Amino acid sequence: MRWQGGRRGGNIDDRRGMGGGAIAGGGIGTLVLAAIGYFVFGIDPSTTTQVASQFGGVGAAQEGERGSPEDQAGAFVDVIGSNVDDVWKTKLEGYQPPIVTLYTQGTQTGCGFGQSAMGPFYCPTDRRVYLDLGFWNDMERQLGASSADFARAYVIAHEYGHHVQTLTGASQQVRQAQQRASGQAEANRYSVALELQADCYAGVWAANAASVSNGQVALEAGDIEAGMQTASAIGDDTLQRRQGGRVQPDGFTHGTSAQRVEWLRRGYQSGDPAACDTFRAL
Ligand SMILES: [Zn+2]
Repeated sequence: MRWQGGRRGGNIDDRRGMGGGAIAGGGIGTLVLAAIGYFVFGIDPSTTTQVASQFGGVGAAQEGERGSPEDQAGAFVDVIGSNVDDVWKTKLEGYQPPIVTLYTQGTQTGCGFGQSAMGPFYCPTDRRVYLDLGFWNDMERQLGASSADFARAYVIAHEYGHHVQTLTGASQQVRQAQQRASGQAEANRYSVALELQADCYAGVWAANAASVSNGQVALEAGDIEAGMQTASAIGDDTLQRRQGGRVQPDGFTHGTSAQRVEWLRRGYQSGDPAACDTFRAL
């Protein structure tokens, strides 16, 4: 995809290399392997808090360097995030951009202690996206996702989708519905609807990326297929199989590979968030 000439909004809090408190004891590798399938692409707000608090880590967040990173990998996140912001400014009245925190291994967040094994996630409490860029390698090597820039941009746009859901109130509604739910299976269905909507919103971004940037950020041939490949690689059924388990639909929290591909496509083909009513499809 084309992105080098895109706007750099500088809404980045760069904490890379700051440490931030590694988890005590060994076994982080195992933890990564066990957790990455489950947490890949973030988790819903209620579980974020639970999971983060399991790792303890009380203390004030250490701010990193604010602005636009100079390295390619950091600049990429800035440009894509700024472009996603520019799309949402045209789609959602009163839209306010989130901050993206880049970190290495672990860092304090408004949702507790965040760490790489959780995958990229959005914290509604401080309205930030948390991203350890090491995830790109995990996504490609361990999960079989595409290494195309667009596949990574799709992940970023998906997390921004959760920010939009916080602004529209969809996330809060889901949390309330989950509290009323009769069991875990029902609660998980709400989670799936929320995640699929974020995929659809990523498609809405992709459809409008070029028009809001005068073509400076634009998909190229093969990009949307790379996004579909990634969406497919991180479907719940595929992840469960990859981890050697049986496919258990009640345990789905993000949707099947086919559903994730389908909602990304719906967003992309319509370019309109109104096409992303995954809750009606529950
Ligand atoms: Zn998500």
